[in-house]
Amino acid sequence: MNAGLLKLMAVSAAFLVGAQAQANNFKGYYSPQVLVSQLRDDCTYSPVGMGIVTSKAGFRVHPVTGRGDFHNGVDLSAKLNDKVYCLLDGMVTRVGWRGNMGVAVEIYHPYPNVRTIVGHLNAYAVMPGTWVTRGRVIGYAGTTGRSTGVHVHYTVIKEDTNEYIEPLMFIKQVPSYVMALRSHQAQLASSVNMKNFRKFDTKLIDTETVDLPEGEKEKEKTPPASMEP
Ligand SMILES: [Zn+2]
Repeated sequence: MNAGLLKLMAVSAAFLVGAQAQANNFKGYYSPQVLVSQLRDDCTYSPVGMGIVTSKAGFRVHPVTGRGDFHNGVDLSAKLNDKVYCLLDGMVTRVGWRGNMGVAVEIYHPYPNVRTIVGHLNAYAVMPGTWVTRGRVIGYAGTTGRSTGVHVHYTVIKEDTNEYIEPLMFIKQVPSYVMALRSHQAQLASSVNMKNFRKFDTKLIDTETVDLPEGEKEKEKTPPASMEP
């Protein structure tokens, strides 16, 4: 094991509080696929890597097309095959190829009634219809779709209005949702939302014609001209 890898492991362990026990159990040839790490309820985590933001949500000049463009999520710096974590409990609603977003995983979180999408993955690690909890690995970072290099795109959408939520604000608020979910009231709200999740069945069956927010729909019409990094 080289020094670089050791350093990387040390950095990962320091970042993901509680993941240290797993790192110590690593046997070299046997790498257990630990799906649930011990993310603390009260800590803010990045879904991937160190949480370094390479492009914020909002209007910007697109790095590939060079044209003005609305960026509906945040881009987080990552290395190839870095684990991408679920930050909040929810139901996987869609996985696989998603136009310019490449290989993506979408999760519906009944509390606080939002959908999150991670894109440009090299692989997904969950299937639609699976209930995933905070800390589970849902995919691995890559550069699929319209992308200039390895990173993870993270989008948050309000389920009732289909509006985009500022993803960094959402990430900061996740611990408050996790804490709230300990209460009976929030659990009740969560189960009511889950029951009312109107597109749930459609999404699981038809992965090609799922309703996308306007901006994304437009983007998907563009031919995937830029497959290379
Ligand atoms: Zn992006």
